[in-house]
Amino acid sequence: MKVVFLGPPGAGKGTQAAIISKAAGIPTISTGMILRDAMAQGTVLGKEAEGYVKKGELVPDDVIIGIVKERLIQPDCEKGYILDGFPRTVAQAQALDDMLPDALDTAFSFEVADSEIMARLTGRRECGACGAIYHIKNGPSAKGSACEKCDGELIQRADDKEETIRNRMDVYHRQTEPIKDYYKQRGKLVCVDASGEPERLAKELLKRLGL
Ligand SMILES: [Zn+2]
Repeated sequence: MKVVFLGPPGAGKGTQAAIISKAAGIPTISTGMILRDAMAQGTVLGKEAEGYVKKGELVPDDVIIGIVKERLIQPDCEKGYILDGFPRTVAQAQALDDMLPDALDTAFSFEVADSEIMARLTGRRECGACGAIYHIKNGPSAKGSACEKCDGELIQRADDKEETIRNRMDVYHRQTEPIKDYYKQRGKLVCVDASGEPERLAKELLKRLGL
């Protein structure tokens, strides 16, 4: 089972990936995670990536693609994998197909309105002391603006401010959404409703994947 999860930030891809990974016994591969691993292990490509990261520059497509390729040929990927956050551009999707012709069974597109994403992400609060995550509507702290566990102050991360989220959504619509057409033309696109409670979507995904 080789699947891609496409969707804007805050669509719940990570939550669903964790559920499917566990049920199917396959790893979730996120670009951020494997980039960090490759750099920590000091592989050739990892060192190359580190050069860009240290300069504060974006890691180029060919380096990212090389690192993904190295990861996908590891033994734990034999039964399959979930790609979360990759491909991010049509060029990356094309490159993935070129290097692994049978790379994918299905690309799931997580469909959720921008307004719902905005509410989900701007409502997040993080404990500045212990890192616990709350949500002002969907999971508030019983102690108001203090952490339930350690009484630390709850703060909104810079990533979760409205303007930052708006920018990330714009980038998604402009850069990543065209990938949907790419997979649609190849008969691999399945759009799923990612609004509302994650439990419902988890059930749908498990059913569609025969788990
Ligand atoms: Zn805390």
